[in-house]
Amino acid sequence: MERLEELQKLLNTPQKIVITCHQKPDADALGSSLGLANYLKKKNHTVQVVVPTDYPEFLFWMSGHSEVLIHNPHRVARSKKAFAEADMIFCLDFSVPNRAAPLDEYINSAKVPIVLLDHHHGKTDFATFELWNPQAAATAELVIEFIELLGDKNLIDRDIASALYAGIMTDTGSFKHSGTSPRVHRIAADLMELGIDTARIHRDVYDTSSPDRLRFLGYCLQEKLQILPQYQTAYFAISAEELRQFNHKTGDTEGIVNYALSIEGIRMSAFIVERKGCVKISFRSFGSFPVNEFARLHFNGGGHRNAAGGRVEISLEESVKRFLDLLPQYEEALNADA
Ligand code: 5GP
Ligand code: MN
Repeated sequence: MERLEELQKLLNTPQKIVITCHQKPDADALGSSLGLANYLKKKNHTVQVVVPTDYPEFLFWMSGHSEVLIHNPHRVARSKKAFAEADMIFCLDFSVPNRAAPLDEYINSAKVPIVLLDHHHGKTDFATFELWNPQAAATAELVIEFIELLGDKNLIDRDIASALYAGIMTDTGSFKHSGTSPRVHRIAADLMELGIDTARIHRDVYDTSSPDRLRFLGYCLQEKLQILPQYQTAYFAISAEELRQFNHKTGDTEGIVNYALSIEGIRMSAFIVERKGCVKISFRSFGSFPVNEFARLHFNGGGHRNAAGGRVEISLEESVKRFLDLLPQYEEALNADA
């Protein structure tokens, strides 16, 4: 990390710190934010985690969740005040400010130092200090590196370790994705040695579905899965009405995109869903096909080579058409790993 000493000097006196992360925080975004928050509080800083949108209930077990300020467009004063009063802003698990919209307005106009801890490609230069490594399996890995760089590894307690472990567990697909390095396993082992309950964390994150959520998954697999063998591609397109039928709650669609990739021979999957005022698309791939490039070029998005997303302000039908119309030009790339 460049200019570490300068940052260390700043952190030597108590600061008012805001930590923020990307929209619809996942276990890595929230776990990294809360893990870092709990560490910085131990160092006598005043810390407020401010997130741009709500997040799934399966993350509510994390220590510090109840103090998170969830930005709400009908109630902007509190988040605006938190940013206005901050001496420093930490940005976690995103590499371009608009991933934290609408909080990007405060990030872009900030006059105070911004610290970026992130592992996404396509970074823009908005931070004062950066610990950015797209090779890292999770931002949580970088939070641990950051704490170690500051010489405070001994301050990582069970609560901090549990939140960070959740980020590493989910971003590596429970330690199965190709970026799961020996280092990741060593970090996980170090966290386990602090006495965290990894089986419990796994269950809290993955096995606490509502009946509606599981039935929605069944519906997607039975009724909505489309398979295009010519392109080694599969996708789902889900309307807002269908979400309503299953009493959709934040987090209920998470992970469904991965099921399509579990079909033998499928190299790319997409989950296209109608949200308020936009259509959100999650992409996953297996092997060389770069879904982050695909998402960036055609769906205002980005992410990692094998896991990316984007959003477009057109109808669900138009989004599906755009997706399908693009496939012929990618036919060769999609079949490259056959
Ligand atoms: P998910 O499909 O789980 O929402 O996101 C998968 C990956 O793609 C994550 O790393 C996430 O940060 C990235 N991603 C998802 N949506 C967007 C988006 O709208 N813009 C960008 N730049 N990245 C996204
Ligand atoms: Mn992440």
